Amino acid sequence: MQNNIYLTNTYQYEIETTLLEQGKDDEGCWIALKDNIFHPQGGGQPTDTAWVNNKSVRIKKQSSGLVIAYLPNGVTFSPSEKVTASIDGEKRQRYAALHTAGHLLNWELRRFGWMAQKGHHFPDESRVEFCMMETNVTPFEQLDSQQIEDIVNQSINSGRKVEIKQNGTLRTSYIDQTEEMPCGGTHVSSLNCIEHFSIKSMKLKKGILRISYDAQHIAI
Ligand SMILES: [Zn+2]
Repeated sequence: MQNNIYLTNTYQYEIETTLLEQGKDDEGCWIALKDNIFHPQGGGQPTDTAWVNNKSVRIKKQSSGLVIAYLPNGVTFSPSEKVTASIDGEKRQRYAALHTAGHLLNWELRRFGWMAQKGHHFPDESRVEFCMMETNVTPFEQLDSQQIEDIVNQSINSGRKVEIKQNGTLRTSYIDQTEEMPCGGTHVSSLNCIEHFSIKSMKLKKGILRISYDAQHIAI
């Protein structure tokens, strides 16, 4: 079994571990590590920038759930060798800040009768798309982006905890005083790790509200 550390610890950027499996497919030679800190792309969040023994690797999740790292041509490891896996910590923080801000935006828009249906949390292109709920919908024309930005920033400043809960195979993220959301991404540990949240634009197209936003992780 692979120990997927990224699921419980956003802030571990390096680990010494050994190989769990290795193989080869159409995309090249790969290894899977016993202790895995690499987050594969998914849920609207980018994959980590990653290295094994300082060699750049490309991360992917197999359909079985196994997270693998494709090796550069000519790089090999022996099955019992100890290796050091590492990721770009600053990028990880930014992804977690953007992703968690997306969850929060989803939650805070409920009061206006809009519910998120999808999110994309890449730097410089982060957005959440909302559809109307059944009742108490504030029409698009009456939504005020400054008011929404202020509401989200108030929540961020509250510093509420962000927890990960595991119920069997279902993993959820939970921002204190909101609701549990099924999710496989990486999150900040508390809301006040997010800074400079801003709404860049709000657009309505075919009944779908799209809010584009930006956010940073505080320097740590
Ligand atoms: Zn999440």
